[in-house]
Amino acid sequence: MRFPLTRTEALARLTEFLPLAGRAYAARRNHDGGPDGRATTSLLSPAIRRRLVSEAEVAAAAVAAHGFGGAEKFVQEVCWRTYWVGWLQQRPEIWARWQADVVRMEAMLAEDGKWQRRYHQAMAGQTGIDCFDAWVAELQETGWLHNHVRMSFASIWCFTLRLPWQLGAAFFYRHLLDACPASNTLGWRWVVGLQTAGKTYLARADLIRDLSGGRFQVAAPLAREAAPWPTDIIPPPIPPAPVQHADPALRTGLFITSEDVSLETLPLPASPVALAATSGIGGAPAPLKRRVADAMLADGVDRAAHRLGLAPERLDEADAVEAMRAWAARHRLAQIITADAPVGPVKDRLDVLAPVLAGDGVRLVRLRRAWDDVAWPQAKKGFFPFKAAIPKLLALPPAALA
Ligand SMILES: Cc1cc2nc3c(=O)[nH]c(=O)nc-3n(C[C@H](O)[C@H](O)[C@H](O)COP(=O)(O)OP(=O)(O)OC[C@H]3O[C@@H](n4cnc5c(N)ncnc54)[C@H](O)[C@@H]3O)c2cc1C
Repeated sequence: MRFPLTRTEALARLTEFLPLAGRAYAARRNHDGGPDGRATTSLLSPAIRRRLVSEAEVAAAAVAAHGFGGAEKFVQEVCWRTYWVGWLQQRPEIWARWQADVVRMEAMLAEDGKWQRRYHQAMAGQTGIDCFDAWVAELQETGWLHNHVRMSFASIWCFTLRLPWQLGAAFFYRHLLDACPASNTLGWRWVVGLQTAGKTYLARADLIRDLSGGRFQVAAPLAREAAPWPTDIIPPPIPPAPVQHADPALRTGLFITSEDVSLETLPLPASPVALAATSGIGGAPAPLKRRVADAMLADGVDRAAHRLGLAPERLDEADAVEAMRAWAARHRLAQIITADAPVGPVKDRLDVLAPVLAGDGVRLVRLRRAWDDVAWPQAKKGFFPFKAAIPKLLALPPAALA
């Protein structure tokens, strides 16, 4: 497997990549040798997405290896993820809108044969655009694409194939091992000019040829213009919910989700007497994405079980609320601690769970990493003002809770 599935493997990948995280990264990061070529970037995104390793650990390791100046570009890229997550956290409506758009647009497809054909040709990698068709195969076979490829892919999808960005984002979300509600949705919105008003990304054949080391001819014509998508209204930021604190005196269970599989590496504020995770990740991901996420979750559960000396239980994913209530009752829990989940499906589930558990007299406490707590409120505007918070983030101990 090209991507780490366990924390041990992720830390080993980080160590192996560190010599390249300095000036080499700044110079070469946009080059993509393809699935068989030598990687110019860390390939850590699936691991970071589920927190096999955290942004704090990755950034601290890069700065330790190269100093802040040498690692600046790499650290900034890590912080792009934090920024997108913080930005969406304060505008959950953008996530809800995208989900509704996908349902609406898929229904509309049934009524427009021409559009439907173009959409299916794109997802089958049968557009006749050599790079695009190869990237579709790479995405489906490996669950990953290089950042510059993602930008070009999204641009060709929207401006050359004239397909809606929402459906492209859904295609990525289904397959990407690192699929992240924030980085994916906002990455696509950025390409069509919805994040930076009026600024779109136009894929260029010469750049694709160059950055792919000449693997692609890009003979088929690409769009010459990238007119911004009609602007939508971006809601004003809602400040992130306040941090919750666990009561160390309460009988506590630890619940691990696929959002953060390394909670046990942090100093827990209460000693758990029971440990659980769901039986798997929900939704309708591609089989490879599901297998990888399940493997990472299993690794997190094993590590927590070992560290806490508890026998883990897996709760039925299909009936998560009742399974959780029964688990809490079996262990006479008064409090369940779990990782805070940013906007996305896990947060939606925790939001449903919390009041039901409260009705049973059980507190659901979402622990937030200090990195998120400091960063999210800074993501009110663009990335450039956000960058000012990076030194503060780097000063935090990587294993800190808010
Ligand atoms: C349309 C589009 C969709 C995207 N969807 C996702 C997604 O669902 N999940 C995701 O993690 N990233 C997404 N990205 C960002 C980026 O492409 C990947 O994070 C990056 O390719 C991961 O490769 P790497 O781990 O080798 O990154 P490296 O270059 O080694 O960077 C280290 C880490 O920094 C973060 N990072 C790097 N670049 C970016 C970036 N531009 N935006 C956000 N975070 C970044 C990732 O966590 C990455 O692992 C998307 C970008 C675009 C343009």
